[in-house]
Amino acid sequence: MTSTLLFLDGEFRDSSRRKRIPQTNPATEEVFADVAAASVADLEEAVKGAHRAFTQVWRNLSPRKRTDILFAVSRRIREQAEELAQLESRNIGKPISDARDEIELGARIFEYYAGGITRLFGQTIPVGRGGFDFTLRQPMGVVAAIVPWNFPFPIACWKAAPALAAGNTVLLKPASQSPLTALELGRIAFEAGVPAGALQVMPGTGSEIGDALATHPLIRKISFTGSTSVGARIMSLASRDLKRVSLELGGKSPNIIFADADVEQAASTSPMSVFANTGQDCCARSRVFVERTVYDAFAEKFIAATRQLQVGDPSSDATQIGPLVSRGQRESVEQFIAGARSAGRSIACGGTRTHSRGYYLDPTVVLDVETNDPVWREEVFGPVVCIRPFDDESAMLREVNDSPYGLSGSIWTNDLKRAIRVARQVESGVLSINSHSSVHVEAPFGGFKQSGIGRDLGMAALEGYTELKNVYVAEA
Ligand code: NAD
Repeated sequence: MTSTLLFLDGEFRDSSRRKRIPQTNPATEEVFADVAAASVADLEEAVKGAHRAFTQVWRNLSPRKRTDILFAVSRRIREQAEELAQLESRNIGKPISDARDEIELGARIFEYYAGGITRLFGQTIPVGRGGFDFTLRQPMGVVAAIVPWNFPFPIACWKAAPALAAGNTVLLKPASQSPLTALELGRIAFEAGVPAGALQVMPGTGSEIGDALATHPLIRKISFTGSTSVGARIMSLASRDLKRVSLELGGKSPNIIFADADVEQAASTSPMSVFANTGQDCCARSRVFVERTVYDAFAEKFIAATRQLQVGDPSSDATQIGPLVSRGQRESVEQFIAGARSAGRSIACGGTRTHSRGYYLDPTVVLDVETNDPVWREEVFGPVVCIRPFDDESAMLREVNDSPYGLSGSIWTNDLKRAIRVARQVESGVLSINSHSSVHVEAPFGGFKQSGIGRDLGMAALEGYTELKNVYVAEA
């Protein structure tokens, strides 16, 4: 059993209240570690340290120095990739091959933003009164990054790296279920040259330190990824002093299959677009719309491909689907399945627990759903998908957009004009055509409607961690 502390001001420190958060391996249900839980007093100290690191050190370093340091973080992540992947897999039950990919993604994110530091351009603008304006992108100060448990390492990286690149300092709050790789990131960054206080990591429960984070006067921006309800609370609290917020929230994404698509390819790849990460994915394509003429063929192939998925021990290279993160998460998913069953919907496969130990649940396909069923409308955040036929493009698009969410989605068709026409009309921040790929380090990622505000990744995220200053120069 290992015990880990908070990572504050360049060292591991206990919390002022010595409270611990147990860490359970979801595949075995065993507690294997615990971490210190930050208190409001710890937060106060951490914010002071982050503000000091911002005003006295980090923002004053030359762009070249900051670039060198972020490249060094990336290198060190790669050097420790296997340990990090094993830790992540154990902490949240993520299949080891996915965990390895996500650690590599974190390294690439630091690399990308290291290079972005000297590409954060302003403008020169001829102005009507003569002379010209030039614009500067300046850091904001202390940024609080609050991350969820489903992709702990890459999301921590995709907030910390651009915030640091832009010259801010960062307080990183991982989720209580998944703090271990975030704490390692704090240590790695410090050892790579990020100054003490510039990236601090403080696990803690939202109920204890959440409000203090959202209202602290020295925190200038909150970058949050998590549920829509917590995001809305943070936005409301942050409005008191007009803190900047960016929110990446829930989703209920569509997967649209037209009859002219490569139905074979769409059907064989679609199961992993919803069941990867055991469905605990904000981009999960959990509402599948299939043109009626190919519905039966698609559903049959989709179900056959789902039955082939390897569900099991996350430490095995062959495993594609691990357990859910916790007992509570599995119970919440099972309630959706029970609701669908009692409404008479057809459970074409899955819906049961197949392992005696661990929070496993078989990938579940629900057919014959109605558009007001909770399983069709709400974010299940587990391995459950619904498939529905459609006849008419416009009516289908109305159903697609009849959701409070708008994060991602896929469109399958070989008709280029239709692909572009439909992509323009789907109310989502991220779409893929003949693919299920949503996250690219170089491109903006975020949602429409209640899926969020602001963008992670790409140059858009880097700009989002700056204030835009406009300076007028008189020439006469
Ligand atoms: P959550 O909202 O419960 O928790 C997210 C983070 O917020 C955790 O660190 C948690 O400790 C913290 N938190 C909880 N209450 C808080 C409060 N009052 N103040 C401040 N912080 C608080 O979400 P979760 O269960 O960890 O993650 C699942 C959700 O995240 C899903 O809805 C999913 O769709 C969403 N998500 C969205 C994206 C995206 O990019 N859009 C990516 C991943 C996950």
